[in-house]
Amino acid sequence: MTWFRKKEQRIESVPADERVVKTEGIFVKCTECDAALYRRELEESLQVCPHCNYHFRIGARERLAMLYDDGQYEELDADVISSDPLEFTDTKPYPQRLEQARRSTGLPEAIITARGRVGGHLTFIGAMDFSFLGGSMGSAVGEKITRIIERALETRGAVITVSASGGARMQEGALSLMQMAKISAALARLDEAQLPFISILTDPTTGGVTASFAMLGDVILAEPKALIGFAGPRVIEQTIREKLPKDFQRAEFLVEHGMLDVVVDRREMRALVIKLLTFMVNPALQTPAPQFNASNNGRDPNGPTPDVPATESKIQSPKSEVKN
Ligand SMILES: [Zn+2]
Repeated sequence: MTWFRKKEQRIESVPADERVVKTEGIFVKCTECDAALYRRELEESLQVCPHCNYHFRIGARERLAMLYDDGQYEELDADVISSDPLEFTDTKPYPQRLEQARRSTGLPEAIITARGRVGGHLTFIGAMDFSFLGGSMGSAVGEKITRIIERALETRGAVITVSASGGARMQEGALSLMQMAKISAALARLDEAQLPFISILTDPTTGGVTASFAMLGDVILAEPKALIGFAGPRVIEQTIREKLPKDFQRAEFLVEHGMLDVVVDRREMRALVIKLLTFMVNPALQTPAPQFNASNNGRDPNGPTPDVPATESKIQSPKSEVKN
């Protein structure tokens, strides 16, 4: 007599494609120090390793939520997307690449632009996302950045760009390169209007993005150890026929050599941005001088003026308090 007998009902093996590792997504390994990080803890520290300060790359939407007051913002121009003007095909047709990027990232383009408040200041932010075709700047990306600058000019807001890009998008050829001039021209008008532009550089910021708006900020901030440059180090070495120093093209090196203003830990970024905006926003220009206007006598100086829509004047009210 056998001591054990196989029961009739056997345990069905799960097909390979349905197998799920139950611990998946709870721990993340730090790329820099190999520490096992609890995912929720990592989210709380804004995707910065608490052991070695390694800054993980983050997406455009996370970036916007991190910078805006209460994480609240209104997305703009989500319908502005690149077409295929050159009918470009490499190993795949360009429209197919775009569609694939949209599906895998859930983003309409390599940048998300938004309107909201940062420390109470009306601010337009364009945050790039490296996971969308390497954060490359095509005509749609250029158009979206230009539009937020134009909106800031109309409503006297501040502009912030957060770069994460491999440069201009080669599939759109010269049309991508033209965005450099277009954005720079719009930024010149923003400068004439005395409105602030803060450029935040994250890992990596290279190519045509570095060569245009990313380096045009009134203040240029960078995240620790971010790769920032125009051409890659090998191309430069071959051109100048010299060995490049170690950590060349890292944020810290660039600060030492006067290319950037400051390297900021991501967890302190929002506080610094608010401080800068409060310093740079000219309260006299923000409030269209109601107290000097005779027709405003006896009215609430913070009330809507004919030139400014009601919603915008509300945003400007905290600045008039600074004046008094
Ligand atoms: Zn680490």
